[in-house]
Amino acid sequence: MAKTEHRFACTGCGQCCHGWLPLTVKEAIANADRFPLAISITPTRTGAPGQKALDRIGVPTILPPKRKISLVITPISFIPPAMRCPELADDNRCSIHAEKPLRCRTMPFYPYKDEDRQAEMLVPRKGWLCDTSDAAPVVYRDRKILDRTDFDKEEEAIIDEVTKLRRYADLVLKHNPPLLGRVSRAAQTPGGRVIVGFVSLLRYDRFIDLLAFAARQRPVLEDWMTKTADDAKLAEHHDYYRDALADLDRYR
Ligand code: SF4
Ligand code: SF4
Repeated sequence: MAKTEHRFACTGCGQCCHGWLPLTVKEAIANADRFPLAISITPTRTGAPGQKALDRIGVPTILPPKRKISLVITPISFIPPAMRCPELADDNRCSIHAEKPLRCRTMPFYPYKDEDRQAEMLVPRKGWLCDTSDAAPVVYRDRKILDRTDFDKEEEAIIDEVTKLRRYADLVLKHNPPLLGRVSRAAQTPGGRVIVGFVSLLRYDRFIDLLAFAARQRPVLEDWMTKTADDAKLAEHHDYYRDALADLDRYR
């Protein structure tokens, strides 16, 4: 019989503070001087079991010829999987704990997945030192999260931005046939996703001061370009930082 109770405690090992960090659009803009920003576009099947949350926050799209999919569009701090978040201090504590992004607060729960599937998120990944022993508190029972405060806040923030992201997807896919081609290919590849420049989203936002955004983001991208130089395994990230910088050049 499946376990009805799940225990979890963070031991502060810092291992989940490596690699990509999903953000809301607001958080991404507020942290432009901190994180190297990108947009991740992940095609997902519509109506699959356990995906009610995805259907709520995804962007319904029809890819040529007539394939219905849902796109999950997420701003991210685009960092190579083995590299530390720039805010992870040497003692593995978060140096911006009081103002850290919603994603970091909700960990290990994940609002892109239905609540009744959250047990999967409580299984530590390889190398993670999360405590799931009997000494840890029960955090999930009968497929329900016991303290939903952070989960609800993150879900609300994501849903709040869905309309903006849907408008962005409609425009960018309509006016950018090469991007539509990349998304179509990603939809045919298991685990496929497309990374595009964060500024592509801001171009459709008339309230954003793009010059100010570029001035804050440029040094961050330059720093990550340096950190990822001369390592073939980091080429995807390095090339992204270079292209994103070139994209920012028009906002000087
Ligand atoms: S912001 Fe803080 S909690 Fe979030 S990934 Fe970075 S170091 Fe970890
Ligand atoms: S991997 Fe687990 S124990 Fe380590 S910081 Fe993240 S949540 Fe905490």
